[in-house]
Amino acid sequence: MAYPTPSRNGKNFLGNKHNKEVHNLRNEKNGCQIDEILRAGHGVGFTPDSLQQAHTEGYDNCAWCIGGSTR
Ligand SMILES: [Zn+2]
Repeated sequence: MAYPTPSRNGKNFLGNKHNKEVHNLRNEKNGCQIDEILRAGHGVGFTPDSLQQAHTEGYDNCAWCIGGSTR
């Protein structure tokens, strides 16, 4: 499942529910604009906290920190 979150704390992956992209917080780049996502209230965490779960939820890879976007 995906749940709204206001912070990065303790997470490996963070989704942007606005554009349905997922970010790898362990490989965060400036282009990810994670602070902007959180400030806008668009952040979501995943349970379990994995890339596979994000894909299951319909999230696409961020081009900066993961790559291999499918759209
Ligand atoms: Zn990213």
